[in-house]
Amino acid sequence: MDCLFCRIIKKEIPAKTVYDDEEILAFEDINPQAPVHVLVIPKKHISTSLDIREGDNELIGRLFQVANKLARDRGVAEKGFRLVVNCNREAGQTVFHLHLHILAGRVMHWPPG
Ligand code: AMP
Ligand code: ZN
Repeated sequence: MDCLFCRIIKKEIPAKTVYDDEEILAFEDINPQAPVHVLVIPKKHISTSLDIREGDNELIGRLFQVANKLARDRGVAEKGFRLVVNCNREAGQTVFHLHLHILAGRVMHWPPG
């Protein structure tokens, strides 16, 4: 399987890592859409949010906990930040390894484009 984010996890492709533990990795988005744009991913390959299984519930909870920690560490937690998961093509998913976008540092618009 040729998955870009699995290759980042295996360190075959470099990334600016901002968080790393046994289950979860977070790194700077290569094409930031806001002053803060970090991707939080499970090290387990899950293609889309539709592929989350019951056994993944704790992992997904931890994904949000890590996002919260990073938002606090960056000082954007109180001001506000956006967590985004794009699922499949029409939503704009381009990398088919589940990831949480953390976007912050500017005013976000609603509805998103
Ligand atoms: P999505 O469109 O939701 O699938 O998001 C994929 C994200 O991955 C985009 O925001 C890309 O800018 C980002 N991305 C693609 N390649 C890399 C890379 N090598 N390192 C960091 N982020 C990447
Ligand atoms: Zn993967």
